[in-house]
Amino acid sequence: MQVMKGTITSVSPLHFGNGRARGTFSQTLSYVPGRTIRGMIGWYLYQNYRDLFDACGLAEDHEPEKMHLFFRNGYPLSDKKRSVYAPLKSRWCKKCGSLIENDENECTQMVDGRLCLQEGKKHTGLVGIKSFSERKLVQPDPVPKRLETKCPITRDGHTSMGSGWQLSPYHVEGIEPGVPFGFVMLAEDTVADDVVHILNDASYACGLGGFRSRGYGLVDISVDSQVSDDEHIASRSSEFSKGDEYLLILNAPCILRSGANSTIGLDRSFFEAINKRLESRGYKGDIAPGSDPSPYITRSVVRGWSLKNGNMVDEIVPATGPGSCIMVTGSPSSLAALEVFGIGDMQSSGYGEMFVSGVI
Ligand SMILES: [Zn+2]
Repeated sequence: MQVMKGTITSVSPLHFGNGRARGTFSQTLSYVPGRTIRGMIGWYLYQNYRDLFDACGLAEDHEPEKMHLFFRNGYPLSDKKRSVYAPLKSRWCKKCGSLIENDENECTQMVDGRLCLQEGKKHTGLVGIKSFSERKLVQPDPVPKRLETKCPITRDGHTSMGSGWQLSPYHVEGIEPGVPFGFVMLAEDTVADDVVHILNDASYACGLGGFRSRGYGLVDISVDSQVSDDEHIASRSSEFSKGDEYLLILNAPCILRSGANSTIGLDRSFFEAINKRLESRGYKGDIAPGSDPSPYITRSVVRGWSLKNGNMVDEIVPATGPGSCIMVTGSPSSLAALEVFGIGDMQSSGYGEMFVSGVI
């Protein structure tokens, strides 16, 4: 497996629907969903390079062992690094942003020679990765947006608006051109170089996200680093030490199936699943709950699309939400490998990504 990191930058406005259009107003997400990247690359490969499409295992949603190409969500940057989800567990000072330690009720930082003493609050959503090392809330870079009013055109076939819209002007929120997001792609050695080669061709041929017929969706993808999974894990695991406890944080919704249902939570079945996944990749399945085994959980839903069902939403899948977290122990290489291999369904679309931080 190769781990590739880089930047995906908007060249035109971008729109990523959150599935909740309000009247004639279509809001955009503030990041690039991995599933839109997978959709773009998958469509391009299917049309032009069917052998490579098959080799990438892009038709597989439920069996990670059969997927050979994975895209992660393109989150905004902070200090040029891809941001991550804040752990639900943590509280940050309302005034100075410092992390409030677990057993404290108020901020103990000195501000202008005085104790800050403000209370803390939780932060949901993305934060700069520096928040962990500096123990202070660092916001991601802002994602500037525009609002455009469009007049509808009628035509047959697929349009970007839902079925409920009327023939009246509608309003599209879009991410401005020129905004960079962190790009992460994982690919088996057999397909990695070929996929890197077509990334921008696919972008120019297909576009990304909604309202592409209205000039949205052009991106530029640059891959700035490419290392093998072994190399990446060896380097990352040197940042962990055996015996210490870490916080495992979901960095995207996680879909864990149990038969026809999906299970919510970071419970025994979750640990069984991550350890099984690690073992399947040749790592020790030794991740266990830490001394404080109580998880912090948020719920999320993932809309499943079906090509068979006329390209419509065919199921709403409950998922454990990003920011959910739990204390864990494990060998450094297993902790580092978790970040690479992820867990659960639809991993090629960015789901099931995890991030491991020091105890905060
Ligand atoms: Zn403070």
